[in-house]
Amino acid sequence: MTILTTGRIFDIMKYSIHDGPGIRTTVFFKGCPLNCWWCHNPESQAMGQEIMLWEDKCIGCGDCLKTCPYGAIVNVDGAQLTVRENCRLCGECKKVCHAGARVVVGEKVTVVEVMKEIEKDIVFYEESGGGVTFSGGEPLMQPGFLNALLENCREKEIHTAVDTTGLAKSDDLLRIASKTDLFLYDLKLMDPEEHRKYTGVSNKQILANLRALSQSHGNIVVRIPVIPGVNDNRENILSTGEFVSGLSGVREINLLPYHKAGIHKYQRLAKTYSLPETKPPANETMDELAEELKRVSYKMIKIGG
Ligand code: SF4
Ligand code: SF4
Repeated sequence: MTILTTGRIFDIMKYSIHDGPGIRTTVFFKGCPLNCWWCHNPESQAMGQEIMLWEDKCIGCGDCLKTCPYGAIVNVDGAQLTVRENCRLCGECKKVCHAGARVVVGEKVTVVEVMKEIEKDIVFYEESGGGVTFSGGEPLMQPGFLNALLENCREKEIHTAVDTTGLAKSDDLLRIASKTDLFLYDLKLMDPEEHRKYTGVSNKQILANLRALSQSHGNIVVRIPVIPGVNDNRENILSTGEFVSGLSGVREINLLPYHKAGIHKYQRLAKTYSLPETKPPANETMDELAEELKRVSYKMIKIGG
């Protein structure tokens, strides 16, 4: 029954080495309850499908315009422009665009389809101590789908990690805990108002969920994305370290340096990036923050994922 459960994803990435131990397959779920200013996967945020456009790849053949059944593509001075309000996400234009300039992201897939992809690389997981990571977006926005995938992986003895924002129903989080080998749990800001400003939501439930999870799960890695000018101050790092120190299930804290890798995706989605001027933190800053953390936390501290 669970293999027929469907969910919406926007990517399956093979041979990942940043989302848990060993070589991993990362399944990216669509939909996120947060709206972080630095998000490098803006296509993850909306629950529904979206069209992404690579204007630089377009060779101007006009095939998409002729094909679109809804008149959502218009020619303006020789360029094919997409009127997003008219687009019904049918995907017909993608089929005829041989330049690869048009993609509809967020397809619906079954558990069996995803498992097929995951199982292709079992040999790599076994050799490297890797497995599969469910990420997003927020995988717990589709709890039934996530639960079914975790159950299938457990049956096949595939190591699983869930990369979560922590904003989910506590019942859903605790239900999957016994089927998940590793949690990668993001903590962005400890100050509730700052958290709301930069992510759009309160951190109350996120912190409560981490407390509850750490009572029933002993393999949690807390990940702090270090965003210059947002959360890289001593006060935030120390209060995060102090909070995490009291949680027995957290074994490690990772400091993840901000990067701009996803910035071009905003243009492809006609969205605005909120931190255009922000630069990645210097190595010295990362080292200093790691030292600060060590002062208040006995957990293992690592820079990077
Ligand atoms: S996805 Fe469909 S409706 Fe949207 S632009 Fe392409 S062909 Fe037109
Ligand atoms: S089909 Fe692709 S390459 Fe041709 S005009 Fe449309 S977007 Fe450009």
